[in-house]
Formats: sequence, structure tokens, C-alpha cells
Amino acid sequence: MRQGVNLDRNPVKKCTQCGQVKPLSEFYKNSSQRDGRTAACKACVAELSRRYYENNKEKIAEGMRRHYENNKEKMVERARRYREGNKEKIAARARRWREENKEKVAEYSRRYCGENKKKVAESTRRYYENNKEKIAEGMRRYCENNKEKIAEIKRRHYENNKEKIAERKRRHRKNLTDPYIKGLLRQQGISNPPAELVEIKRQQVIAKRLLQQMKEENYEPDCINDETKQRENESTSEWHDEA
Ligand SMILES: [Zn+2]
Repeated sequence: MRQGVNLDRNPVKKCTQCGQVKPLSEFYKNSSQRDGRTAACKACVAELSRRYYENNKEKIAEGMRRHYENNKEKMVERARRYREGNKEKIAARARRWREENKEKVAEYSRRYCGENKKKVAESTRRYYENNKEKIAEGMRRYCENNKEKIAEIKRRHYENNKEKIAERKRRHRKNLTDPYIKGLLRQQGISNPPAELVEIKRQQVIAKRLLQQMKEENYEPDCINDETKQRENESTSEWHDEA
């Protein structure tokens, strides 16, 4: 039995640094030592390396910097190769990190957006411009896969905003806005109508409403006397022939 080494079922060893007797598992493996373990325990190794780093920060940084300078291309190439060969691993790691640091990410993006409003708006616009189809496809797919969720959101939105929505509808109807006219055309099975058709439909609605109003008010213009009425009736057939 070697000095300081206990060969029973729970082997222990005395640390040369702190002098404590600890289980062998508390020492790092080291094949250059006779018993296959480091002389100092794990805790002492950690403390020693921490102290060494503290006392030699600049030297270490300088050494790393010089090493990087002397091996730049090799290191850049190695990093590139690593990224190429481990895309999924890297993405997964980044995803996991973002998942575990949601608040940090939100805070960072809030600050970044606040400080770079113009840049962010510009890059968003550019991204949208360059990825229109991808975005539309993604949205289409999302809607397709989340039908129930979206229906529920719509339903809740409608419940919470009934009056506002009704008021908006009234306003659209009163002002004969494009969305309102397009809605009428859609009911007739026409989607994406050209502007001219929207305009024709608008005039049609105006005429219809006017006629309705006249009917309700029993409108009889003074200028039309019995004689002109008579003439109108006679020429009605001609009108129809022309149309
Ligand atoms: Zn120790």
C-alpha cells in the first residue's frame, strides 16, 4: 500500500494543498502521477487556477491575443468549419439559451429597439420587402394550423369590442368606403374587383338608396306634371330597347 493511498473500497487521498483527506473521486485523473490522480484536490485546483488567472490576467490575455494573431487564419477556418458542421447543435444551444433567458432577451431587444429605432424600422422594412412571399406563406400556414385558436381570438375580440365594431361598420356603410363596397361584391362572389368595378358598384348603391328614400317619402317632384308622366310612360319601351 502506497503512502497516502487507501486501497479499500472507498479509497481516499490526502491533498498536498489543503491537507484534507478526501475520496479519490475528489481528485482529477492525471496519468503522469503514480496513483493516477492529481496531488491537489479538485477544490484546490480550482482555487489555484482562479488565483493564477487573477494574478496573471494581462499576461494570459496578451498570450491569447498573440496566439490568435499568429494563428488567425487557422482559427477562423476552424471556427467556420465548426459552425458548418454543427449548425443544428449551435441553433439548439442558442434556442435553449433564449428559452432560459427570456427576460434578458426581452430586455435586450427593448433597449436595442429603443436606441436604434430608425435602424430597426429600416431593417424590418427591408426584411419584409425581401421575404414577402415567405412571410405570406408562413402566415397562411400559421392560420391553417391554428384555425381554432384564431377563431377563438376573433370571437373574443368581437365580444370585447361589439359596439366599436358595430360603429365602424355603420361608418363604412354610411361613407360607402372601399372595404364596404368590396364586401358587397364579395357577397356576389367577386373577390379582388378592379377599381372601376368598385366605383360602378358604389354608384349603383347610391342610386338604389336614393330610390329607396324616394319610395319611403312618396317623392313626387313638382316639376313632373301629368303630361310629362304620360310622355315618360310612352317612351319607356324605347328605353328598354336601347338597354
Ligand atoms: Zn485540497
